[in-house]
Amino acid sequence: MIPASFDYVRAVSLRDALSALAAGDGSKVIAGGHSLLPVMKFRLAQPARLVDIAALPELRGVAEHRRGARIGATTTYRELLESELLRERFPIIAECTDNIGDLQVRNRGTIGGSLAHADPSSDMPAVMLTLDATFNLRSKRGRRSVRAREFFHGAFSTALAEDELLIDIVVPPLPKGAGTAYLSQKQAASGYALAGAAVVVALRRKTVTHAAAALTGVGEIAKLIASTDQLVGTKGEPEVVARVAAGATEGLEIGGDIHAPADYRRHLATVVIRRAVEKALERAR
Ligand SMILES: Cc1cc2nc3c(=O)[nH]c(=O)nc-3n(C[C@H](O)[C@H](O)[C@H](O)COP(=O)(O)OP(=O)(O)OC[C@H]3O[C@@H](n4cnc5c(N)ncnc54)[C@H](O)[C@@H]3O)c2cc1C
Repeated sequence: MIPASFDYVRAVSLRDALSALAAGDGSKVIAGGHSLLPVMKFRLAQPARLVDIAALPELRGVAEHRRGARIGATTTYRELLESELLRERFPIIAECTDNIGDLQVRNRGTIGGSLAHADPSSDMPAVMLTLDATFNLRSKRGRRSVRAREFFHGAFSTALAEDELLIDIVVPPLPKGAGTAYLSQKQAASGYALAGAAVVVALRRKTVTHAAAALTGVGEIAKLIASTDQLVGTKGEPEVVARVAAGATEGLEIGGDIHAPADYRRHLATVVIRRAVEKALERAR
């Protein structure tokens, strides 16, 4: 439980942080440290140097962006919860964040750290998938933008290169008439999702015009599910919702572990997706 020795530097500018990562000398960034430090304590990661990005103002905070929002990567969960803009425009972010860890985790943990770490049971990736967020990345080599839908490659694996930083997350406005919901069946000790579902639906004249849903906790990484397409053009009748839920895990490789066997996780996934779709529809009506 004691990490290997490492150097620690606190980046004083974004340039500083990007140069440190470009040096290729085994440096790794640290934000809140809630995922990285446990991994280092188990010696699953042994970075030679930690570059602390938590104090960089360019990476922090929530701001209005083209009728949506821009969220800096080192914005903490607590700051997400305190943002009026997010509560008003994207209540699903607050609903999800409220659900994460405990007070200590929410005070220090950052949205960027969670997305970059890409834990299979983390909550926020599913929300970013349903909101169709875009992640802005930067290295000394340049900048690029990657949609959440292309960012998550697998368990603990993302589109981020070794020398790249996640700078911010851009969330486009929700469609008109939208209702959203995030729901998870938590692992009792940590709060991580055994199965979690994020849902965005939109209604026009009581008919569903848009539906997106993602599951987390059940596979290698959060995934959008195709069965929600069946909602579009319907009024979201109970039998349609039941069909969506029954088809939600089709084609997904569902793993079991000490917390929940695969069959149980599959069952939970269909339950959380059904309830989240029902809730999102209710909120849209
Ligand atoms: C007790 C406990 C309970 C938890 N419960 C939950 C839960 O219920 N749900 C849930 O989803 N999560 C949960 N978590 C995980 C928590 O959400 C993450 O640990 C945290 O948000 C990660 O953010 P961080 O700033 O601490 O990242 P760090 O630990 O600092 O970094 C994590 C990884 O991301 C990289 N990184 C960080 N920021 C950037 C960046 N801007 N650009 C590129 N790479 C970056 C780091 O190099 C590292 O590899 C829990 C954690 C703990 C300790």
